Amino acid sequence: MSKITITKTTSSNLAHVDFDNLPFGQVFADHMFVADYDGQQWTNMEIKPFGRLTMHPSMLALHYGQSIFEGMKAFALEDKTPVLYRPERHAARLNASATRLCMPEFPEETFVEVLEMLLRLDHQWIPSEPGSALYIRPFMFATDETIGVRPSEKYRLIIFTQPTGPYYAKPVKLLAEHNYIRAANGGTGEAKAAGNYAGSLLPAKIAKAKGYDQVLWLDATDFEYIQEVGTMNIFFVIGDKVITPATDGSILRGITRDSFLTLLTDAGYTVEQRPLGISEVEDAYDRGELKEVFGAGTAAVVAKVCEIKNKDKVMKLSVEDYKVAPWLYDQINGIRNGSISDKHGWLHPVALPVSV
Ligand SMILES: *Cc1c(COP(=O)(O)O)cnc(C)c1O
Repeated sequence: MSKITITKTTSSNLAHVDFDNLPFGQVFADHMFVADYDGQQWTNMEIKPFGRLTMHPSMLALHYGQSIFEGMKAFALEDKTPVLYRPERHAARLNASATRLCMPEFPEETFVEVLEMLLRLDHQWIPSEPGSALYIRPFMFATDETIGVRPSEKYRLIIFTQPTGPYYAKPVKLLAEHNYIRAANGGTGEAKAAGNYAGSLLPAKIAKAKGYDQVLWLDATDFEYIQEVGTMNIFFVIGDKVITPATDGSILRGITRDSFLTLLTDAGYTVEQRPLGISEVEDAYDRGELKEVFGAGTAAVVAKVCEIKNKDKVMKLSVEDYKVAPWLYDQINGIRNGSISDKHGWLHPVALPVSV
């Protein structure tokens, strides 16, 4: 493994950014990490000023979709210390996605080390307002310059970061999808693969045109078992149980999902990970037992669901009465800002060089 060189920007953009008004996904911090896999090993590892790439028109990722990504966040503690949230988990998931798409792994310790280096350089880009964060986007794609369906030999890994403002998730309306699927048994649903999103855009667009915010994905065989939502895993409170679909190979193994399961179990909730049919949810709704439905993901942490439509049946939920979802939100935020003890070691603080 070659060492990581650092080229600092000579024209920081920091002074030009209005941190009180951060349009989502459009502001980029000063530096990014770039590394190339040469077919044998990772080389040319460099942190350098954020900027454009050049590419060959036949670059394989553009044609056959060998492309994966991660989405994670860093926060600032009160004393300004940057903290990463469960970076080892994200490193491991990136590698699991890579394996499924015939791509090389990136060493997990180096991944975390690179994130630490990026945060040391760009720590001033971490917004301090509660609820805001520095979003981190690692991604890897095939770079062979040829046309031919085969795994690429060469790859590029890039990590850039983006300050994001507090994300006030408004309650979402979900449309259970009966024509299109996101993932089937044996497919790539468990990988954070770019192509999974490409296939979901049309059904999401149709759902929006019908007045729904996101698609509720059902299984590819029976259109019965609930998988997840757009960019989130999903939880149901039925009676006094909290239920989330079991990861069966077609559901993304969300890290927020995992954190929620741990927090709920610690607090003594009855938690079930199992196949959950949409008809079971409808029955629970009819009996008045469906108390809460919420999405779980890095971007929003928790997104309350206020309505689910399945075929002709509309289920409306009173999000004002939710108890579990806001509790989870407060727990996660409390752990992130240091006000609740980090029992499970989810925070990864990054020591800053002592300033003079
Ligand atoms: C990233 C993602 C999630 C949420 O995962 P987190 O690790 O909690 O952010 C859920 N579903 C899909 C399809 C995703 O891509």
